[in-house]
Amino acid sequence: MNESKLREQMVELGRSLYDRGLTPGSSGNFSAKLDDGFLVTPTNSCLGRLDPARITKLDLQGNVVAGDKPSKEAFLHLSMYGERPNAGAVVHLHSTHSVAVSVIDGLDPAAPIPPITAYYVMRVGKLVLLPYFPPGDPTLANAVREVAGKHHAVLLANHGPVVAGSDLETAVYATEELEETAKLFLLLRSEKVRLLTGEQVAELGRRYPT
Ligand code: ZN
Repeated sequence: MNESKLREQMVELGRSLYDRGLTPGSSGNFSAKLDDGFLVTPTNSCLGRLDPARITKLDLQGNVVAGDKPSKEAFLHLSMYGERPNAGAVVHLHSTHSVAVSVIDGLDPAAPIPPITAYYVMRVGKLVLLPYFPPGDPTLANAVREVAGKHHAVLLANHGPVVAGSDLETAVYATEELEETAKLFLLLRSEKVRLLTGEQVAELGRRYPT
């Protein structure tokens, strides 16, 4: 996809996420990879009202080359790209149910949400929960970098998800799948549930590698 089409797609997907309440106010940010750099949503921008001409362009080293000042969380995206050469896009939202899960004490950091549905396993894969870091702190970038090679979906404690995908639509859909699964997980907290078995999860991994 060429740069101007990608800018239009960012506007369209941002509006869709905003209209459905997945990224309220000026929260959330996403990025997409180009041959010569990255497009990132600008700092303090409302994803429902992005201007394609003002979306930030970074070079491959992360320097701003055009557009508005980038999101303060652009470094999260660069950490993901650095460890995942096939990632074409990264999405970070403060979506309600995912954030709610990120606040629950005592979850297993290696599997904060268990395998509830096949599509969660297929689209989100092995979610990992990272400890709390102040937004913008360089230690957060390092923490994401350490797990990004093995996990394309990361949940930041008391903050929200960061999800990479092969392209922007894939990354947005995976983030939405995570949000819906977080909602199910919260709905089911007091229920006796039947999770997918280890063998069922492994079978999905063989059929649909993430
Ligand atoms: Zn954030």
